[in-house]
Amino acid sequence: MKSFPPYRVQVVREIPITTRPEREQALSEAGYNMFDVPAGKVTIDLLSDSGTGAVSAAQEAAAAAGDRSYAGSDSYYRFRHAVDDLTGFPHIFPVHQGRAAERILFSAVLAPGRISLSNTHFDTTRANVELLGAEARDLPCAEAADLDSMDPFKGNIDLAKLEETLAGPEGDRVGQVLVTITNNGGGGQPVSMANLKAVRELCRRFGVPFFLDAARFAENAWLVIQREPEYAGQTPKAVAQQAFELADGCVASLKKDAISPMGAIVGVRDPELAKRCEVNLIATEGFRTYGGLGAHDLERVAQGLREVVNPDYLRSRTAEAAHLAGLVNEAGVDIVQPPGIHALYLNAGRLLQHIPPSGFPGHALACEMYLAGGIRCVELGSLYLGEFDEEHNLVSPAPFELVRLAIPRRTYTEAHLEYVADVLATIAKNPESVPQYRVVEAPPLLRHFNLKMRKA
Ligand SMILES: *Cc1c(COP(=O)(O)O)cnc(C)c1O
Repeated sequence: MKSFPPYRVQVVREIPITTRPEREQALSEAGYNMFDVPAGKVTIDLLSDSGTGAVSAAQEAAAAAGDRSYAGSDSYYRFRHAVDDLTGFPHIFPVHQGRAAERILFSAVLAPGRISLSNTHFDTTRANVELLGAEARDLPCAEAADLDSMDPFKGNIDLAKLEETLAGPEGDRVGQVLVTITNNGGGGQPVSMANLKAVRELCRRFGVPFFLDAARFAENAWLVIQREPEYAGQTPKAVAQQAFELADGCVASLKKDAISPMGAIVGVRDPELAKRCEVNLIATEGFRTYGGLGAHDLERVAQGLREVVNPDYLRSRTAEAAHLAGLVNEAGVDIVQPPGIHALYLNAGRLLQHIPPSGFPGHALACEMYLAGGIRCVELGSLYLGEFDEEHNLVSPAPFELVRLAIPRRTYTEAHLEYVADVLATIAKNPESVPQYRVVEAPPLLRHFNLKMRKA
């Protein structure tokens, strides 16, 4: 039986329909940087699944009833109840979004010269490690290097390399191990519970704290249920609870799997660490019972955390991503296999073989999708991960040239996604017509947000 979303549409928002000349002008005025294209010129926005999901009537009703008291508001206690029930961490701090959580937690555990080990640090996560003078080192599992392999847990951290690093000469410089579930920087692939358990054991043995970057805890739990036999038949909430139980703490953007426009948490077990986080929180984000959040967002989070673990929701969202993956493959475009949930990662390097990494095939495909169909998405290739010299020439390419199509939660219908696949099919029929790009301006940190490009 075909799965379907366990909700119906109640409020809608019109989307802009533009002409090709309008899009050419908008993209050129944006310096060919997708982040600088006004949303009013975007028809289907697959730039991010962060804060872009549709809120439910229940979330909005709760938001309207939010209590804005400065300290100890009713909204805080409802938020705490939902977060405690899921994570079990004794110390929870609300913050405005994931990167604030990263800054607060990392500045309490890292320092110049320390190392953060991860399956893959997400972009802001890496930036927050590096801003502290620490080193962000990615140890993805070997299976992740084969984009076509159907291995079920390509988000895993490489346990052998993790042990080698912890036991080696740099071991005492490791300040934290951070596992990202699902691995957003690594194709949106899930991490198995077996992998998390093994990380926990290694971290215990070497006395290093183990944290989760748990932005997509529910989607990871759902994929564990589908792909890790020991967990088949369990509920998404139960699996997520077990994952949090393994860790010493977490940072989690709640703009993803709490289906909230804003919000994040820091969660920790250690009371001393909690104290250090709390001082930083109060000085920079807000009092401990609201962090950087308004009462409405505390309420939306509390309700969203209940809705996101609904198996019918996760089943239909997974089916939606799989449906798009099937259409994209029929269109002749390869993706990072197997498809995850929050995004598809297109293999632009393989599609646009006439463009070398220095001409940025991923960026070229993203630009073409916008020009051809008003679809916004973003490159995850050499522009994002490569190394550049002072003149902005690419000196060391990324291992893959990918484009991420993020799928906002509860936002687009199947017809929208079929339109995306149609646009991609048109491009794939004539890939040689897609031009290359050059970098005009590129800052050293968080480069892809602030680029200026031009056609080569
Ligand atoms: C989105 C995200 C973050 C940062 O969260 P924001 O709420 O966008 O600041 C950190 N890690 C991962 C894995 C993410 O997906």
